[in-house]
Amino acid sequence: MTKHIFVTGGVVSSLGKGLTSASIGLLLERRGMTVRMQKLDPYINVDPGTMSPYQHGEVYVLDDGSETDLDLGHYERFTNSPLSRESNYTTGQIYLRVIEKERRGEYLGRTVQVVPHVTDEIKQSILNLGGPDVDVVITELGGTVGDIEGLPFLEAIRQIPLDIGKDNCLFIHLTLVPYLKAAREAKTKPTQHSVGQLRQIGIQPDILIVRTERPIDRDQTDKIALFCNVEKQAVIVEVDKEFSIYEVPIGLAEDKLDQLIINKLSLPAGPLDLDDWQELMRKIRIPEHEVTIAVVGKYIEHRDAYKSIYESLDHAGFSKSTRVLIKRVEAEELEQQGPEMLLSGVDGILVPGGFGMRGIEGKIQAVEFARSCEIPYFGICLGMQCAVIEFARNVLGLKEANSSEFASDTDDPVICLLEEQKDVTDKGGTMRLGAQPCALTPDSRAAACYGSEEVSERHRHRYEFNPEYQQAFTDAGMIASGIHPQRRLVEVIEIPDHPWFVAVQYHPEFKSKPDAAHPLFCGFIQAAQERHHQRMQATV
Ligand code: GLN
Repeated sequence: MTKHIFVTGGVVSSLGKGLTSASIGLLLERRGMTVRMQKLDPYINVDPGTMSPYQHGEVYVLDDGSETDLDLGHYERFTNSPLSRESNYTTGQIYLRVIEKERRGEYLGRTVQVVPHVTDEIKQSILNLGGPDVDVVITELGGTVGDIEGLPFLEAIRQIPLDIGKDNCLFIHLTLVPYLKAAREAKTKPTQHSVGQLRQIGIQPDILIVRTERPIDRDQTDKIALFCNVEKQAVIVEVDKEFSIYEVPIGLAEDKLDQLIINKLSLPAGPLDLDDWQELMRKIRIPEHEVTIAVVGKYIEHRDAYKSIYESLDHAGFSKSTRVLIKRVEAEELEQQGPEMLLSGVDGILVPGGFGMRGIEGKIQAVEFARSCEIPYFGICLGMQCAVIEFARNVLGLKEANSSEFASDTDDPVICLLEEQKDVTDKGGTMRLGAQPCALTPDSRAAACYGSEEVSERHRHRYEFNPEYQQAFTDAGMIASGIHPQRRLVEVIEIPDHPWFVAVQYHPEFKSKPDAAHPLFCGFIQAAQERHHQRMQATV
């Protein structure tokens, strides 16, 4: 029978619940268990696809095209749990289902209520992930205990032990123990209140993970155990990791969290095998090289807006023994100050995905700077579209070239909407989404990076390279080196006569892992390393 772990959070948000859940998943997998991961988000949007990156950070796209919470990115980077539409539910989705059932008459005239109808729907979404070949389902509940909109979810997980048996469920609660400088003391009261609130709802946590900036005394954790009604050894202290988020599982394993979970759920686990992960951490602590990559975007100050891109750059750095320093460049600032001012001295330039007009001209200037100064360039989605516009304007001489997203009446829409997209008015889930095949040109730079000519990557965009211009681009030196094999859409462009200029219509950042860096990010970092080396030699 599948066992269920529920991860909740209290005191404040941004405690790293996603990271901790992913780390637990990794530890259980490394003890031979088959794990499924899931996130429940109490907000009312049906999915985060329509939310601003300022509100929500990055939208993480899965193979099946679902637009999900960025914590699913952690799940994929840490575990092998297959993720799908069933891995991320929001209040919006749950209610949508309940209302659709009501409209179909499936409630047979009964009054439809939060308990039991909404909670039943939530429970079903959780239990569906279990099965004969799944040992553990880890369900992370978004938000913080005490949020009004989280209540139906907490009520649903409270009921699950009654349905499937107490011994098959485990509640893990994450809280913050702040350190008060003035009192020179770590404070446990917020944790006590948070657990108190959970217990009022009827949930007694089995394990507490307390997040702290600095280590805390055993006295304090014993006090937390006593006041929160938890066994002493079930209070785990997770101190902030200075060096890398990928150290989190190692810290939790040192505190024997995996063993605690295995004992409490009576899981038939094997010994922990973390050797390669530990080896990776050792290696990345002493990199041999260093490069600076400029990421030119418009949500630069938001820590999570380009989350997977920053992670993928790190992964490529790990594989090339290179510390990747990221220079975050605000595209609008670049428009004002010019590219020389902000981009001189970087070893590579990356323009990530995005929507809307703001900052576009700055991104196009960044591309021009990379192309003309022979700085390695990596364009992703909008970053590819900007590269196409720049080339059209400055090499093909089509001065007004643009994407019809930004100038619907341009004479040269080098990026445009396909016929099938023209009549779509709904915003949610209506883009080209999810995994699609791509055939790479033999001997292209992209094919060399992948070591393959047939790949699959995830998409999330509406606009496409306009095929009417493809020949003119090829003749002038920008080739389409990746094509959708059936639909003939341009997926990858590159400039062979440049040290490294590759741009892709898809999002490779969703498929990179710390121990399996994405080939294009590796190629980009390798090229940046070469440029760095040349720069250093030139200054000697
Ligand atoms: N706005 C562009 C489009 O819709 C690019 C989207 C993206 O970068 N994800 O095609």
